[in-house]
Amino acid sequence: MKTTNSKERLSYIRKSLMQYRFISITTVVAVIVTTFMAVYSYISRSMPDFYSNIVYAVLAAAIHVDLKKNSNEKRSSILLLIYFLIVEIVLVFRLNPESLGHVILIIFPLLAYILTGRNRGLILSSLYSIGILFLLGVVRGGLPVWSIVLFLIASIIVSVICSVYESTGEMVISELEKTVTELEEQKQKIAEIAIHDELTGLYNRRWFNEQFPKEIQRCRRQNIPMGFFILDVDYFKQYNDNNGHLAGDHALQKVSAILQLELRRGGDMVFRLGGEEFGGIIAGDSREQLIRTCQRLCLAIEEAKIPRKYSEVSQFLTASIGLTILESSEDNRTEDDLYLAADEELYRAKDSGRNRVSVD
Ligand code: GH3
Ligand code: MG
Ligand code: MG
Repeated sequence: MKTTNSKERLSYIRKSLMQYRFISITTVVAVIVTTFMAVYSYISRSMPDFYSNIVYAVLAAAIHVDLKKNSNEKRSSILLLIYFLIVEIVLVFRLNPESLGHVILIIFPLLAYILTGRNRGLILSSLYSIGILFLLGVVRGGLPVWSIVLFLIASIIVSVICSVYESTGEMVISELEKTVTELEEQKQKIAEIAIHDELTGLYNRRWFNEQFPKEIQRCRRQNIPMGFFILDVDYFKQYNDNNGHLAGDHALQKVSAILQLELRRGGDMVFRLGGEEFGGIIAGDSREQLIRTCQRLCLAIEEAKIPRKYSEVSQFLTASIGLTILESSEDNRTEDDLYLAADEELYRAKDSGRNRVSVD
């Protein structure tokens, strides 16, 4: 369904865009910080720190360049997480146990939440916390309890903040999705309104103008006959004068309902061309079938027994039909030619007494 696609696209674009920006900024910050630390280590003549910071800076720069070149946010997310995992594990062994420095260790859980979402973030940061606590407490040993508690508190705060952040994002995206759904429904409604006639619900002239040439082309291509008729209600001006415009409207609605009921096969199309004039396209029927169908329409309208006075034709409302037939693909008349032909036949039907079909 269209809507689902738009929602998915929207959600995907949002996530990709945020991840791209986030990884881009984080890697730049990592390059700047590690370069600064490398310079500082060099000045204070701590060569192991100098070399390790140079390696960190180069790795962060490589992730940044890879992201810019390939725009593969998923791969860059994984690389960035591995990068910080390595940096933080090394930190565990290098930090002074008495310092507050190991609060920096919460960088990984923070990134895990931001880059992989709430659920994966929770799993990754829990595994990470267990691993780090093991390294801090057992492998390194001798760490004061308060520093482990501090690390745990920091991890929990990160989890809570990230969950709130994530659900805020979800609220924004669900609002956007609702808006997109509404817009699409409205677009569909407008498209429907644009091709239908308000009074009768039939296709309107605009849709006829679009479909008529297409149907002619299709029938020619498939080499099947096509009938086109114009149906005009007889003495309708008089009907309006005698019964009022509103009754006239109702009569047009009844005529439309009859046309829709009679012409409901797959290839049939009925239009309100304007006023009390209707058009029909019937594809695939033989000449005899087409004439019979049009005669059936005239009969059905008369048999609906819409009463009328003062008509010379019938005591009920009637209609006349002009029919033209495109019998083979060699018939190369244009849509205007066909329209004119049907119109001429309509006048012939009117001239010869109304409530009948005339065909060329
Ligand atoms: P003919 O048998 O020769 O077709 O005569 P007619 O009176 O039907 O033809 P004419 O073209 O003189 O009149 C058409 C009338 O249809 C005039 C107009 O008031 C009426 N009409 C057109 N559109 C509507 C509509 O939407 N509602 C109503 N009630 N009347 C309409
Ligand atoms: Mg008329
Ligand atoms: Mg008319």
